[in-house]
Amino acid sequence: MKGLSRIASGIAQSEIRVMSVECERVRGVNLAQGVCDTEVPSVVRRAAEATIEAGANQYTRLDGIPALRQAIARKMRDYNGLNVDPDREVLVTSGATGGFSAACMALLNPGDEVVLFEPFYGYHTHTLVAMNIVPVFVRLEAPDWKFNVADVERVITPRTRAIVINSPANPSGKVFSREELESLADIVVRHDLILFTDEIYEYFLYDGHRHISAASLPGMADRTVTVSGFSKTFSITGWRIGYVICPSEWTTAIGYFHDLAYVCAPSPFQHGVTAGLSELTPEFYSDLGREYLEKRNILCQALTQAGLTPSIPPGAYYVLADSSSLPGKSSKEKAMSLLNETGVASVPGAAFYHDDSGENLLRFCFAKKTADLENACGRLERLRSPASV
Ligand code: PLP
Repeated sequence: MKGLSRIASGIAQSEIRVMSVECERVRGVNLAQGVCDTEVPSVVRRAAEATIEAGANQYTRLDGIPALRQAIARKMRDYNGLNVDPDREVLVTSGATGGFSAACMALLNPGDEVVLFEPFYGYHTHTLVAMNIVPVFVRLEAPDWKFNVADVERVITPRTRAIVINSPANPSGKVFSREELESLADIVVRHDLILFTDEIYEYFLYDGHRHISAASLPGMADRTVTVSGFSKTFSITGWRIGYVICPSEWTTAIGYFHDLAYVCAPSPFQHGVTAGLSELTPEFYSDLGREYLEKRNILCQALTQAGLTPSIPPGAYYVLADSSSLPGKSSKEKAMSLLNETGVASVPGAAFYHDDSGENLLRFCFAKKTADLENACGRLERLRSPASV
């Protein structure tokens, strides 16, 4: 289109946004977007309100307020098994999204190749493409989303600069095991690569799965950029508070690019999150896991009953379900037919693959208030799949 940059002429609107608009049109229940409309912990909310009232509404330092960096460093030590210097190795960012984008700007060059696992999280792929970086894909195989280490070795070329992982993963729910992380660490070290690890769902774990931070593996701290944030843990997707943990040689450049786009993360919300990290007890985090496990089970049962066989996720809060029983040639048509039939919005599987491998998949999000989730499940269970007609 006239006037647009080369990159901009190739973009398409996100399927998640499209489905959310369609859902609103039919006044349906939106299981498409990971908006996380559950309760914000009151300690987090109150501290942000008090900060606004007290007048701390100005820019902060570009790397975030010291109290939050210190609280993140304590959490990294206690939960992630990683000792980091809050002044030199922690950057508070405008969400994990702002952190990932600034880190890519600081560490990657146009033409570099970066390995991603698919099904992928769209923002990872699209952020790289927007910077003229070439995504290269390695397949996670359903239903347990394992990968073949040889496939990773095979796609590495002299232009490969980094590997991106997401654990627990959106959309598959995959939780990378220690063995898998060790095999990737071995490749990263041998080929002198950077590992980007997005750990935003680190507390959303089910069936006894444990979160392992890749940077805590021997020899990995000085090759790893850990990206995470509080959007999901504290249900504050609109507050835009995330962070990057990385070697101190990289924080200045990452902070520079983050500053160019965002200046800083929102000040009152930095204070709110600091209070949450300092005052919430371990029970808060274990309750979160229990609450979401219940939601996962409610949704998976309804999907099974509707003939949309789910792949049961061990982590995060999405379910990929087999949609072959629905009418339609593409996952987009299948998502639309499900929306029109039941009023439940999902995301077409094509949004998570670079080829047509997602056309028989739909993604459903269970980060919903229980009443909304039950409403959606009631609608799904009434679906008469062709097999049951
Ligand atoms: N990373 C992953 C894997 C996600 O699924 C999401 C949101 O859906 C984000 C990052 C966004 O995080 P933030 O709100 O901190 O930018």
